[in-house]
Amino acid sequence: MRIDIITVLPELLESPLNHSIVKRAKEKKLVEINIVNLRDFTKDKYKSVDDYAFGGGAGMVMMIEPVYKAIEKLKGERDYDEIIYTSPDGEKFNQKIANQLSLLNNIIILAGHYKGVDQRIRDYLVTREISIGDYVLSGGEIPAAAITDAIVRLIPGALTDEQSALSDSFQDDLLAPPVYTRPSDFKGWKVPDILLSGNTGLIDKWRHEQSVERTKKLRPDLTDNE
Ligand code: SAM
Repeated sequence: MRIDIITVLPELLESPLNHSIVKRAKEKKLVEINIVNLRDFTKDKYKSVDDYAFGGGAGMVMMIEPVYKAIEKLKGERDYDEIIYTSPDGEKFNQKIANQLSLLNNIIILAGHYKGVDQRIRDYLVTREISIGDYVLSGGEIPAAAITDAIVRLIPGALTDEQSALSDSFQDDLLAPPVYTRPSDFKGWKVPDILLSGNTGLIDKWRHEQSVERTKKLRPDLTDNE
């Protein structure tokens, strides 16, 4: 899989996409992540990619021309399955969408900035708009990193068996069960006996029950439709 992220702040994406599971997935050649600096696609001598909003009002707007050029260059090199714009008013990102996106070959993620992007980018260039939650961040880099991380850990081979995404929260509309490690007794706060029993059948059953209980208590909405 290949993910191209178009941004005005490449530095913001360096650390989140160069550690841990994402780093290892890149090393294993399971994913190629390419950061595209939008400022490389402007002829402006100050490399600016924003301008005042038509009609006035506060805040600058990301211009269509550099975005168009960046996308056209990428599309000239390969076909893309989705061109995603990160936006607070997009569809709310969740594990189901992460699963869908992890099955694609090539995607572009456009990280917005300023007051937002020229609406024509959304109308004519973008194929999907995704929000990571009902709050407003300063730019689309953190959403792009969050979406990328969630996708990459679902690519077969990115996680080892022990880290399997199948036991993560939301994979089957259930929250993950609680986990513990040594010591088994810390200041009298004990690990449930069942986890020390060595009986894998009973442990699996207990974990499933815990998942169901946790989901009912913390996120009943996840199972509401069943
Ligand atoms: N004026 C816009 C609005 O009210 O919807 C917010 C613009 S925000 C300051 C700048 C950029 O950050 C957006 O264009 C978007 O790419 C990104 N962004 C901010 N919050 C986001 C969120 N919750 N999900 C996805 N992207 C977000």
